[in-house]
Amino acid sequence: MESCPICSSQTIQGMATITGVPTHCNVLLESQREALESPTGTLELVACGDCGHVFNRAFDARRMTYEGVYENSLHWSPRFQDYATRLAERLIADCDLRGKDVLEVGCGRGDFLQEICKAGANTGLGFDPSAPLADDPGATDRVTFVRDYFSPESYPRSRGDLVICQHVLEHVDDPAAFVDLLADALKTPRSCLYIEVPNGLVTVRHGAIWDLIYEHVWYFCERSLRMLLARRGLSTYWVEATFGGQFLSALVGPAEDAAPGLVRGEAPTRADVAAFQGHLDRMIASWRESLELASASGTVVVWGAGSKSVTFLNLTRPESRSIRAVVDVNPHKQGKYIPESGHEIVAPDQLQRLDPDVVLVMNPLYLDEVRRTLADLDLHPQVRSVVS
Ligand SMILES: [Zn+2]
Repeated sequence: MESCPICSSQTIQGMATITGVPTHCNVLLESQREALESPTGTLELVACGDCGHVFNRAFDARRMTYEGVYENSLHWSPRFQDYATRLAERLIADCDLRGKDVLEVGCGRGDFLQEICKAGANTGLGFDPSAPLADDPGATDRVTFVRDYFSPESYPRSRGDLVICQHVLEHVDDPAAFVDLLADALKTPRSCLYIEVPNGLVTVRHGAIWDLIYEHVWYFCERSLRMLLARRGLSTYWVEATFGGQFLSALVGPAEDAAPGLVRGEAPTRADVAAFQGHLDRMIASWRESLELASASGTVVVWGAGSKSVTFLNLTRPESRSIRAVVDVNPHKQGKYIPESGHEIVAPDQLQRLDPDVVLVMNPLYLDEVRRTLADLDLHPQVRSVVS
Protein backbone atom coordinates (compact mmCIF):
# COMPACT_ATOMS: atom_id res chain seq x y z
CA MET A 1 0.00 0.00 0.00
CA GLU A 2 1.17 3.51 -0.78
CA SER A 3 2.50 5.48 2.18
CA CYS A 4 3.65 9.04 2.84
CA PRO A 5 7.38 9.41 2.04
CA ILE A 6 7.73 11.86 4.95
CA CYS A 7 5.79 10.35 7.89
CA SER A 8 4.98 6.82 6.56
CA SER A 9 1.23 7.32 7.12
CA GLN A 10 -0.97 5.19 4.86
CA THR A 11 -3.80 7.74 4.83
CA ILE A 12 -3.33 9.12 1.31
CA GLN A 13 -6.02 11.34 -0.24
CA GLY A 14 -6.33 12.08 -3.97
CA MET A 15 -6.07 15.79 -4.80
CA ALA A 16 -5.87 16.55 -8.53
CA THR A 17 -4.76 15.20 -11.89
CA ILE A 18 -3.33 17.42 -14.65
CA THR A 19 -2.03 16.10 -17.96
CA GLY A 20 0.19 17.67 -20.64
CA VAL A 21 2.49 19.56 -18.25
CA PRO A 22 6.00 20.35 -19.64
CA THR A 23 8.58 18.22 -17.81
CA HIS A 24 11.22 21.02 -17.84
CA CYS A 25 9.64 24.41 -17.26
CA ASN A 26 12.91 26.19 -16.40
CA VAL A 27 14.63 25.05 -19.57
CA LEU A 28 13.80 27.73 -22.12
CA LEU A 29 14.06 26.84 -25.77
CA GLU A 30 16.05 28.45 -28.59
CA SER A 31 13.31 28.13 -31.19
CA GLN A 32 9.54 28.08 -31.21
CA ARG A 33 9.54 24.71 -32.96
CA GLU A 34 11.65 23.15 -30.18
CA ALA A 35 9.38 24.77 -27.59
CA LEU A 36 6.21 23.37 -29.15
CA GLU A 37 7.75 19.89 -29.15
CA SER A 38 8.76 19.95 -25.46
CA PRO A 39 8.16 16.68 -23.62
CA THR A 40 5.17 16.64 -21.27
CA GLY A 41 4.15 14.58 -18.24
CA THR A 42 1.27 14.07 -15.81
CA LEU A 43 0.71 15.46 -12.33
CA GLU A 44 -1.21 13.05 -10.13
CA LEU A 45 -1.25 14.96 -6.86
CA VAL A 46 -2.08 13.25 -3.58
CA ALA A 47 -1.90 14.45 0.05
CA CYS A 48 -0.93 12.74 3.29
CA GLY A 49 -3.82 12.78 5.77
CA ASP A 50 -1.42 13.05 8.73
CA CYS A 51 1.48 15.41 7.97
CA GLY A 52 -0.24 17.22 5.07
CA HIS A 53 2.57 16.53 2.62
CA VAL A 54 1.46 16.73 -1.03
CA PHE A 55 3.26 14.87 -3.80
CA ASN A 56 3.06 13.89 -7.45
CA ARG A 57 2.74 10.12 -7.46
CA ALA A 58 3.14 10.06 -11.27
CA PHE A 59 6.59 11.72 -11.14
CA ASP A 60 9.28 9.87 -13.10
CA ALA A 61 12.81 10.87 -12.03
CA ARG A 62 14.30 9.24 -15.15
CA ARG A 63 12.77 12.01 -17.25
CA MET A 64 14.60 14.81 -15.40
CA THR A 65 17.90 16.51 -16.13
CA TYR A 66 19.16 19.82 -14.75
CA GLU A 67 22.25 20.25 -16.85
CA GLY A 68 23.14 22.95 -19.35
CA VAL A 69 20.56 25.60 -20.10
CA TYR A 70 18.62 25.45 -16.82
CA GLU A 71 17.80 29.07 -15.96
CA ASN A 72 15.80 30.02 -12.88
CA SER A 73 17.65 33.00 -11.38
CA LEU A 74 15.30 35.54 -9.78
CA HIS A 75 18.13 37.93 -8.91
CA TRP A 76 17.33 40.27 -11.80
CA SER A 77 14.31 41.51 -9.85
CA PRO A 78 14.90 44.29 -7.25
CA ARG A 79 12.09 42.83 -5.09
CA PHE A 80 13.81 39.45 -5.00
CA GLN A 81 17.25 41.03 -4.56
CA ASP A 82 15.97 42.83 -1.45
CA TYR A 83 14.69 39.52 -0.04
CA ALA A 84 18.06 37.84 -0.71
CA THR A 85 20.02 40.67 0.95
CA ARG A 86 17.90 40.52 4.11
CA LEU A 87 18.11 36.73 4.22
CA ALA A 88 21.91 36.84 3.92
CA GLU A 89 22.10 39.36 6.80
CA ARG A 90 19.83 37.20 8.95
CA LEU A 91 21.79 33.99 8.34
CA ILE A 92 25.07 35.78 9.06
CA ALA A 93 23.64 36.99 12.40
CA ASP A 94 21.89 33.75 13.41
CA CYS A 95 24.82 31.48 12.49
CA ASP A 96 27.57 33.89 13.62
CA LEU A 97 28.90 33.62 10.11
CA ARG A 98 31.93 35.86 9.61
CA GLY A 99 35.10 34.58 7.99
CA LYS A 100 33.55 31.11 7.78
CA ASP A 101 32.96 28.47 5.10
CA VAL A 102 29.63 28.43 3.28
CA LEU A 103 28.69 25.47 1.09
CA GLU A 104 25.68 25.70 -1.21
CA VAL A 105 24.13 22.65 -2.83
CA GLY A 106 22.23 23.59 -5.99
CA CYS A 107 23.62 27.14 -6.14
CA GLY A 108 22.35 27.86 -9.67
CA ARG A 109 24.27 30.86 -11.01
CA GLY A 110 25.59 31.51 -7.50
CA ASP A 111 24.02 34.92 -6.82
CA PHE A 112 23.02 34.19 -3.22
CA LEU A 113 26.31 32.50 -2.38
CA GLN A 114 28.19 35.55 -3.67
CA GLU A 115 25.97 37.78 -1.58
CA ILE A 116 26.37 35.96 1.73
CA CYS A 117 30.13 35.55 1.23
CA LYS A 118 30.62 39.21 0.42
CA ALA A 119 28.43 40.45 3.28
CA GLY A 120 30.11 38.25 5.92
CA ALA A 121 33.65 38.00 4.45
CA ASN A 122 33.01 34.28 4.10
CA THR A 123 34.46 31.74 1.68
CA GLY A 124 31.96 29.99 -0.58
CA LEU A 125 31.82 26.69 -2.39
CA GLY A 126 28.87 26.18 -4.71
CA PHE A 127 27.77 22.95 -6.41
CA ASP A 128 25.40 22.90 -9.37
CA PRO A 129 25.42 21.23 -12.80
CA SER A 130 24.65 24.70 -14.23
CA ALA A 131 27.06 26.67 -11.98
CA PRO A 132 29.20 29.40 -13.59
CA LEU A 133 32.52 28.27 -15.09
CA ALA A 134 35.78 29.59 -13.58
CA ASP A 135 36.15 32.33 -16.21
CA ASP A 136 32.52 33.51 -15.99
CA PRO A 137 32.02 37.05 -14.67
CA GLY A 138 30.03 35.50 -11.77
CA ALA A 139 33.10 33.74 -10.34
CA THR A 140 35.28 35.63 -7.83
CA ASP A 141 38.17 34.87 -5.46
CA ARG A 142 35.77 34.49 -2.57
CA VAL A 143 33.59 31.82 -4.16
CA THR A 144 34.49 28.61 -6.01
CA PHE A 145 31.97 26.86 -8.21
CA VAL A 146 31.89 23.15 -9.03
CA ARG A 147 29.81 22.16 -12.04
CA ASP A 148 28.55 18.92 -10.53
CA TYR A 149 26.00 17.41 -8.17
CA PHE A 150 27.29 17.43 -4.57
CA SER A 151 27.84 14.24 -2.62
CA PRO A 152 29.96 13.75 0.53
CA GLU A 153 31.54 10.66 -1.13
CA SER A 154 32.71 12.56 -4.21
CA TYR A 155 33.75 15.67 -2.26
CA PRO A 156 34.72 14.37 1.21
CA ARG A 157 36.69 17.49 2.15
CA SER A 158 33.87 19.92 1.30
CA ARG A 159 32.15 21.00 4.51
CA GLY A 160 30.38 24.17 5.59
CA ASP A 161 29.85 26.14 8.78
CA LEU A 162 26.64 26.93 6.95
CA VAL A 163 25.19 24.60 4.32
CA ILE A 164 22.56 26.19 2.08
CA CYS A 165 20.03 24.40 -0.07
CA GLN A 166 17.39 26.57 -1.75
CA HIS A 167 14.62 25.21 -3.96
CA VAL A 168 16.23 21.81 -4.51
CA LEU A 169 14.57 19.52 -1.95
CA GLU A 170 11.21 19.67 -3.78
CA HIS A 171 12.92 18.25 -6.90
CA VAL A 172 14.79 15.22 -5.52
CA ASP A 173 13.34 11.71 -5.63
CA ASP A 174 14.34 10.78 -2.05
CA PRO A 175 14.05 13.82 0.27
CA ALA A 176 15.09 11.90 3.42
CA ALA A 177 18.33 10.66 1.83
CA PHE A 178 18.96 14.15 0.46
CA VAL A 179 18.59 15.78 3.89
CA ASP A 180 21.08 13.20 5.24
CA LEU A 181 23.50 14.19 2.49
CA LEU A 182 23.16 17.87 3.42
CA ALA A 183 23.62 17.13 7.13
CA ASP A 184 26.79 15.15 6.31
CA ALA A 185 28.25 18.34 4.82
CA LEU A 186 28.03 20.21 8.15
CA LYS A 187 31.52 20.94 9.45
CA THR A 188 30.88 20.79 13.21
CA PRO A 189 27.98 19.97 15.58
CA ARG A 190 27.40 23.73 15.82
CA SER A 191 27.14 24.22 12.05
CA CYS A 192 23.82 25.28 10.51
CA LEU A 193 21.79 24.06 7.58
CA TYR A 194 19.44 26.44 5.76
CA ILE A 195 16.73 24.87 3.63
CA GLU A 196 14.23 26.81 1.50
CA VAL A 197 11.37 25.33 -0.52
CA PRO A 198 8.16 26.69 -2.10
CA ASN A 199 5.37 26.91 0.50
CA GLY A 200 3.02 24.09 -0.51
CA LEU A 201 0.28 25.34 1.80
CA VAL A 202 -0.12 28.43 -0.40
CA THR A 203 -0.57 26.17 -3.43
CA VAL A 204 -3.13 23.89 -1.80
CA ARG A 205 -5.11 26.14 0.54
CA HIS A 206 -4.88 29.47 -1.25
CA GLY A 207 -5.20 28.09 -4.76
CA ALA A 208 -1.77 29.10 -6.09
CA ILE A 209 -2.38 26.61 -8.87
CA TRP A 210 0.17 28.16 -11.25
CA ASP A 211 2.89 26.94 -8.85
CA LEU A 212 2.24 23.36 -9.94
CA ILE A 213 5.09 22.13 -12.15
CA TYR A 214 6.39 18.72 -13.16
CA GLU A 215 9.86 19.37 -11.68
CA HIS A 216 8.34 19.61 -8.19
CA VAL A 217 7.74 16.13 -6.81
CA TRP A 218 6.96 17.39 -3.30
CA TYR A 219 4.86 20.27 -1.93
CA PHE A 220 6.03 20.84 1.65
CA CYS A 221 3.92 22.51 4.33
CA GLU A 222 5.39 23.60 7.66
CA ARG A 223 4.33 20.36 9.35
CA SER A 224 5.76 18.01 6.72
CA LEU A 225 9.04 19.94 6.52
CA ARG A 226 9.42 19.84 10.32
CA MET A 227 8.53 16.13 10.28
CA LEU A 228 11.16 15.33 7.64
CA LEU A 229 13.88 17.23 9.55
CA ALA A 230 12.96 15.74 12.94
CA ARG A 231 13.00 12.21 11.49
CA ARG A 232 16.52 12.84 10.19
CA GLY A 233 17.70 13.83 13.69
CA LEU A 234 17.83 17.57 13.03
CA SER A 235 16.47 20.27 15.30
CA THR A 236 14.86 23.39 13.86
CA TYR A 237 15.98 26.82 15.11
CA TRP A 238 13.19 28.37 13.10
CA VAL A 239 10.77 27.42 10.34
CA GLU A 240 8.87 30.29 8.73
CA ALA A 241 6.89 31.29 5.67
CA THR A 242 9.08 33.84 3.83
CA PHE A 243 9.05 35.95 0.63
CA GLY A 244 5.50 37.16 1.15
CA GLY A 245 4.43 33.68 2.29
CA GLN A 246 5.48 32.02 -0.99
CA PHE A 247 8.53 30.21 0.44
CA LEU A 248 9.07 28.02 3.48
CA SER A 249 12.44 28.53 5.18
CA ALA A 250 14.08 26.39 7.86
CA LEU A 251 17.30 26.94 9.78
CA VAL A 252 18.36 23.65 11.34
CA GLY A 253 21.21 21.87 13.07
CA PRO A 254 22.01 18.47 14.59
CA ALA A 255 19.73 17.66 17.55
CA GLU A 256 20.40 15.82 20.80
CA ASP A 257 16.83 14.62 21.11
CA ALA A 258 14.71 15.00 18.00
CA ALA A 259 11.12 14.03 18.79
CA PRO A 260 9.18 13.35 15.57
CA GLY A 261 6.01 12.53 17.54
CA LEU A 262 5.69 16.15 18.67
CA VAL A 263 5.94 17.79 15.27
CA ARG A 264 3.62 20.77 14.87
CA GLY A 265 3.02 23.34 12.15
CA GLU A 266 0.35 24.27 9.65
CA ALA A 267 -0.76 21.74 7.05
CA PRO A 268 -3.53 21.48 4.45
CA THR A 269 -6.77 19.99 5.83
CA ARG A 270 -8.80 17.19 4.23
CA ALA A 271 -11.28 19.87 3.13
CA ASP A 272 -8.50 21.90 1.43
CA VAL A 273 -7.40 18.80 -0.45
CA ALA A 274 -10.95 17.73 -1.39
CA ALA A 275 -11.77 21.20 -2.78
CA PHE A 276 -8.60 21.52 -4.85
CA GLN A 277 -9.55 19.88 -8.18
CA GLY A 278 -12.81 21.86 -8.38
CA HIS A 279 -10.96 25.07 -7.61
CA LEU A 280 -8.31 24.28 -10.22
CA ASP A 281 -10.90 23.57 -12.93
CA ARG A 282 -12.88 26.75 -12.16
CA MET A 283 -9.75 28.90 -12.15
CA ILE A 284 -8.58 27.56 -15.52
CA ALA A 285 -12.04 28.00 -17.09
CA SER A 286 -12.31 31.54 -15.75
CA TRP A 287 -8.88 32.56 -17.09
CA ARG A 288 -9.55 31.02 -20.50
CA GLU A 289 -12.67 33.16 -20.72
CA SER A 290 -10.83 36.29 -19.53
CA LEU A 291 -8.05 35.78 -22.07
CA GLU A 292 -10.55 35.39 -24.88
CA LEU A 293 -12.28 38.64 -23.90
CA ALA A 294 -9.06 40.61 -23.33
CA SER A 295 -7.39 39.56 -26.56
CA ALA A 296 -10.54 40.33 -28.58
CA SER A 297 -10.21 43.99 -27.60
CA GLY A 298 -6.44 44.51 -27.53
CA THR A 299 -2.89 43.21 -27.11
CA VAL A 300 -2.20 41.08 -24.04
CA VAL A 301 1.27 40.23 -22.69
CA VAL A 302 2.41 38.28 -19.63
CA TRP A 303 5.11 39.64 -17.30
CA GLY A 304 7.55 37.04 -15.94
CA ALA A 305 8.90 33.92 -17.66
CA GLY A 306 9.23 31.83 -14.50
CA SER A 307 7.58 28.53 -13.74
CA LYS A 308 4.26 30.21 -12.81
CA SER A 309 4.01 31.60 -16.35
CA VAL A 310 4.87 28.29 -17.96
CA THR A 311 2.03 26.60 -16.07
CA PHE A 312 -0.41 29.48 -16.70
CA LEU A 313 0.31 29.65 -20.44
CA ASN A 314 -0.02 25.89 -20.84
CA LEU A 315 -3.09 25.25 -18.70
CA THR A 316 -5.05 28.08 -20.34
CA ARG A 317 -4.54 26.82 -23.90
CA PRO A 318 -5.86 27.28 -26.51
CA GLU A 319 -6.96 30.80 -25.44
CA SER A 320 -3.43 31.67 -24.20
CA ARG A 321 -2.20 31.49 -27.82
CA SER A 322 -3.59 35.00 -28.26
CA ILE A 323 -1.02 36.35 -25.75
CA ARG A 324 1.53 38.23 -27.85
CA ALA A 325 4.67 37.76 -25.74
CA VAL A 326 6.14 37.11 -22.32
CA VAL A 327 8.31 39.85 -20.80
CA ASP A 328 11.22 39.08 -18.50
CA VAL A 329 13.97 41.25 -16.99
CA ASN A 330 16.46 38.35 -16.98
CA PRO A 331 18.60 38.79 -20.14
CA HIS A 332 19.40 35.05 -20.17
CA LYS A 333 15.72 34.36 -20.85
CA GLN A 334 15.14 36.99 -23.53
CA GLY A 335 14.96 35.68 -27.10
CA LYS A 336 14.06 32.20 -25.85
CA TYR A 337 10.69 30.42 -25.93
CA ILE A 338 8.33 29.03 -23.27
CA PRO A 339 8.21 25.19 -23.28
CA GLU A 340 5.12 23.65 -24.87
CA SER A 341 3.11 26.91 -25.28
CA GLY A 342 5.85 28.36 -27.55
CA HIS A 343 5.51 32.03 -26.47
CA GLU A 344 8.52 34.25 -27.16
CA ILE A 345 10.28 35.93 -24.22
CA VAL A 346 11.17 39.59 -24.78
CA ALA A 347 12.96 42.37 -22.87
CA PRO A 348 10.83 45.09 -21.23
CA ASP A 349 11.89 47.71 -23.82
CA GLN A 350 10.34 45.54 -26.55
CA LEU A 351 6.97 46.52 -25.13
CA GLN A 352 7.17 49.91 -26.82
CA ARG A 353 6.87 48.08 -30.13
CA LEU A 354 4.06 45.79 -28.90
CA ASP A 355 2.16 48.62 -27.14
CA PRO A 356 0.13 46.26 -24.90
CA ASP A 357 -3.37 47.05 -23.64
CA VAL A 358 -3.18 44.51 -20.82
CA VAL A 359 -0.13 43.30 -18.86
CA LEU A 360 -0.74 40.18 -16.77
CA VAL A 361 1.72 39.93 -13.87
CA MET A 362 2.30 36.37 -12.68
CA ASN A 363 3.64 37.19 -9.22
CA PRO A 364 1.81 39.91 -7.23
CA LEU A 365 5.04 40.69 -5.34
CA TYR A 366 6.39 42.24 -8.55
CA LEU A 367 3.38 44.50 -9.29
CA ASP A 368 5.01 47.77 -8.13
CA GLU A 369 8.23 46.96 -9.94
CA VAL A 370 6.32 46.24 -13.18
CA ARG A 371 4.25 49.44 -12.90
CA ARG A 372 7.42 51.51 -12.43
CA THR A 373 9.11 49.91 -15.44
CA LEU A 374 6.05 50.51 -17.64
CA ALA A 375 5.83 54.15 -16.52
CA ASP A 376 9.54 54.61 -17.36
CA LEU A 377 8.76 53.28 -20.85
CA ASP A 378 5.86 55.76 -21.08
CA LEU A 379 3.40 52.88 -21.40
CA HIS A 380 0.08 52.88 -19.55
CA PRO A 381 -1.68 49.54 -20.08
CA GLN A 382 -4.04 47.91 -17.61
CA VAL A 383 -1.84 45.95 -15.17
CA ARG A 384 -3.46 42.92 -13.62
CA SER A 385 -2.18 40.27 -11.22
CA VAL A 386 -2.94 36.69 -12.23
CA VAL A 387 -2.85 35.66 -8.57
CA SER A 388 -5.30 37.65 -6.46
ZN1 LIG B 1 2.78 12.27 5.96
